[in-house]
Order: sequence, then structure tokens, then C-alpha cells
Amino acid sequence: MFELQQLSCHYGNEPAIDRLSLSIPPGRTTVLIGPSGCGKSTLLRLLIGLLRPGTGRILHDGKRLTAAQLPALRLRIGYVIQDGGLFPHLSARDNITLMARHLRWPAGRIATRLDELCALTRFPATALDRFPLELSGGQQQRVALMRALLLDPEALLLDEPLGSLDPMIRHELQEELARIFVTLGKTVVLVTHDLAEAAFLGDHIVLLKDGRLVQQGTLEQLLDAPADDFVSVFIRAQRGLPARPEAAC
Ligand code: ADP
Repeated sequence: MFELQQLSCHYGNEPAIDRLSLSIPPGRTTVLIGPSGCGKSTLLRLLIGLLRPGTGRILHDGKRLTAAQLPALRLRIGYVIQDGGLFPHLSARDNITLMARHLRWPAGRIATRLDELCALTRFPATALDRFPLELSGGQQQRVALMRALLLDPEALLLDEPLGSLDPMIRHELQEELARIFVTLGKTVVLVTHDLAEAAFLGDHIVLLKDGRLVQQGTLEQLLDAPADDFVSVFIRAQRGLPARPEAAC
């Protein structure tokens, strides 16, 4: 769905993405992982066209998009920024339906879509008129997810969607997200710094460091054949991965 070719992106003189090539297949969940500052969020912003690459190319479904096509692209991609990014002065309902109202959908169509999304994310319809501060962290994330899914986008980009949640809610929402990804069958690109979460939610793990791709594959491939010392150190630094029995001599 997305093809990144020798992509670079700088803030000032500092490269945030450095000659990165990557294929993101349709209908699967790709997880971007790596230490803070390695370029994960920047990569999502490039995919949705909020940033333009300095050099290299991004192909969407095989085509390079012009600047004039980017607004239309953004309607075809759902994007959940870190901490949800809900507007605090809007109710959950108004946060979720903002784009539909902007696009002048009829009220009946909006109500039907809202019902579908509440059912999908198991969000109580009785809480739709609350403001974000009146919702739990997990409920806020469900609202952010519903907002991103409202227009039934082809792809969903999620930037650390569970990062600020406590472990129990995080665990519950991981299960919910896994179920939602399977139900929808969309192309998902998810950012996390937690390898266990990456392995649980993702079909394909992409490990970044300093804006470069270090290794991609399944968790087993990263564990069994780390591309370099950084991969081994990154894996060792993760708590919560099940201990692996030592290989017999
Ligand atoms: P990650 O999501 O992996 O934590 P980011 O993509 O946010 O990484 O950042 C990559 C690098 O770019 C970091 O060094 C960060 O400090 C820098 N960076 C991110 N956003 C900006 C910005 N708006 N202006 C300047 N530097 C930025």
C-alpha cells in the first residue's frame, strides 16, 4: 500500500529519517518500533503527507502523489496521534463526527456510522455526550479510534495509541485493537516502543534507529537472527518478553 524508496526527511540539518526504504503491505498490521527519537512519528507524518520528504519517494498504491492530491489522501487515511489528540471543548460525539459534519453528511448517515463504531469499539453510547476530560484514558482512546475510522479509511496510522494507559487498561485495549484489526482487515501502521505489544498486534515488525531501518520481520526473526548488536541490546532492554530457555549445548 505504501512504498518508501530511499526516503530522507530533515528538521533543520538533522536527519529524522535517513535513506529509508520500506514496503508496507495492504491489509496487514505493520509495527514501527525503536527507541525514542528514532523517527517513528516522523515516518507516520510522511505517510499521511503532513511532512514532505527531502529526498526519496513515497508511492501510495504504486503512485507518487502531488501536493494537490494530499488533502484527498488524508481523507483516505485514519490517523490517531499520540494521546489521542481529542479536542477538549467538544463532546465525544462531536469529536468523532467532526469530519462527517464538515463533509455535510446527512444526520441519519452520521447516526448510523456512530452506532457501528460504538459497537466496534465497545464504547457506551450513553457516554457520547461527555467531554474528553469526563472520560477514562481507555475511553478517550476509543473515541480517538472512532474518529480516525469515521470515514472508513483504507489505512489506519496509530502513533503510540496505548502509551499513556495503565497496564491493565493497556492490556485490555491491546486485545480490543487486535480484534478490531482482524475485523476490519485494513492496512494498519502502528507505532510503539514496546516489543511485546509490537509482536502481539503486528504481522510485521520494523525496527528503526536514528532514522534508519535496522531490521524487519517477525519477533522470532528478530530474536533468532538479530541483524546487529543494536537489535540484541534493544531486545534485552525489553521487560515483559517471556524468558527464552537457553539453547542446549
Ligand atoms: P520518535 O517518534 O521515534 O520518538 P520522532 O519522529 O518524533 O521520533 O523524532 C525523530 C527526530 O526528529 C528526533 O531527534 C526529534 O527530536 C526530531 N524532531 C521531531 N519533530 C521535530 C520538530 N518538529 N522539529 C525539530 N525536530 C524534530
